[in-house]
Amino acid sequence: MQMIENYIDGELVVPASGEYFDNFEPATGDVYSLIPDSDDRDVNLAADAAKAAFPAWSSTPPEERFAILMRLVALIERDLEPLAQAESKDNGKPVSLARMVDIPRAAANFRFYATAAMHLANESHETFGANSVHAINYTLRQPLGVAGCISPWNLPLYLFTWKIAPAIAAGCTVVAKPSEVTPMTAFMLSKLCIEAGLPAGVLNIVHGTGPKVGSAIVGHKDIKAISFTGGTKTGEEIARTAAPMFKKLSLELGGKNPNIIFADCNYEEMLATTVRSSFSNQGEICLCGSRIFVERPIYEMFKTDFVERVSALKIGDPTDAATDVGAIVSKQHFEKILSYIDLAKEEGGTILCGGKAVTAETQRPGDESEPGAIATGFRVDSERCKKGHFIEPTVVEGLPHDCRTNQEEIFGPVVTIMPFDTEDEVLGYANSVRYGLAATVWTENLSRAHRISAKLESGIVWVNCWMLRDLRTPFGGVKDSGIGREGGFEALRFFTEEKNVCVKL
Ligand code: NDP
Repeated sequence: MQMIENYIDGELVVPASGEYFDNFEPATGDVYSLIPDSDDRDVNLAADAAKAAFPAWSSTPPEERFAILMRLVALIERDLEPLAQAESKDNGKPVSLARMVDIPRAAANFRFYATAAMHLANESHETFGANSVHAINYTLRQPLGVAGCISPWNLPLYLFTWKIAPAIAAGCTVVAKPSEVTPMTAFMLSKLCIEAGLPAGVLNIVHGTGPKVGSAIVGHKDIKAISFTGGTKTGEEIARTAAPMFKKLSLELGGKNPNIIFADCNYEEMLATTVRSSFSNQGEICLCGSRIFVERPIYEMFKTDFVERVSALKIGDPTDAATDVGAIVSKQHFEKILSYIDLAKEEGGTILCGGKAVTAETQRPGDESEPGAIATGFRVDSERCKKGHFIEPTVVEGLPHDCRTNQEEIFGPVVTIMPFDTEDEVLGYANSVRYGLAATVWTENLSRAHRISAKLESGIVWVNCWMLRDLRTPFGGVKDSGIGREGGFEALRFFTEEKNVCVKL
């Protein structure tokens, strides 16, 4: 059984408790490795190491930080295949997705911030006051010290490195915790950091649970900033601890994203993209559109075509290159998603396709989800996966915009479709939720695209596309989707403190 280890002060170490807990492979339901059950003692060691490493790392020239981080990029790219296999096994996502998206993006995160750190400039202001006073103000941006980075399970290495890369590049040292549900690639990254020659203590990775390790990071007096991605409820808890300690906070939280489709859109492109934006990564991407609003003239056509395309998705063993939809990350999350499908039915929704757990034993081609539903024949053709946590891609119609199914985050392969008649009406529906992370608008009418984009309560709007990312752009949500922005220079600035120096000439 593979044992995961913490990475503290440049070394791989066992947790202070000596205890471990099980790590499951979601596609099989089997335990395949053990995770350190770390606690505040491990976090204290990690914070001490990070504090001790800070003076040297923060004064290391950006060019040298660049060289070390680029060595790490080369190692991630060298190990792309084993990292992708590990990500798929740990999370349940199709290995093809990990190969194409997750691991390349982890390398890109380090590459982007290694480079960006060399371009971070300080501002200066020349001041002319009364009585011929003349001064120069310059504003230093200094790395703020030890940063805490806490990430979720849906895009494990991708989101872990999205926080760590700007923190380290800015000259901070880090205590980080990946999700206990998907710790494997963070463990592999710690070995690559050693190989790349990252100085001891610059990055420390402590594995374990949120209540023990996460909250110890958030409450540690020497950790000056917390960069967190995860659920809104956890974000609230973190803010309650961190605010009275006056820590800097960046919180990337939940979403319930609208997908607004007008009749004048490029239909074929919209259809193909909407299948992806609904079910990529089993719908477990914070940016997936889960509420699909379709202008009435094309509603029936969309419904038929969408359900047909969704029914053709191949659900199956994540290791199979042909798989479109893999396993749900954990038994607990699998049950939560199924409970929301039950809720959708209780609230009066009609399941147009999917709607059930699927195992090698229970589903056969031709099975019908509901009377009148399209026979999808979703099944997992793998003996290996017969105890895995799989859920059919599910499309629901007939629900009002304000019911719980349409207001609460499900974070799985479940979408609702709803017709609308006017722009104002659909804006009201789209903005009716507590969240405001991302939105997608499909129209060929340029004025309408700009008008709607300006009025959507959302940190990110994609027009005629989805998940088209430029790492220089601000990334984050409004309302209960969080505070702060990641990406670009914004993330580097987060990990610095500004100091203004005024020199009278
Ligand atoms: P959680 O909030 O449950 O967990 C996120 C991380 O926080 C995990 O590492 C978790 O530890 C840790 N954690 C849990 N409790 C605490 C605590 N009290 N103090 C400190 N840390 C804690 O989220 P999930 O992992 O379930 O991720 C899914 C959520 O993440 C969804 O709501 C999704 O929308 C959101 N998300 C948002 C994104 C964005 O950019 N806005 C991107 C991706 C996801 P552990 O799980 O190991 O116990």
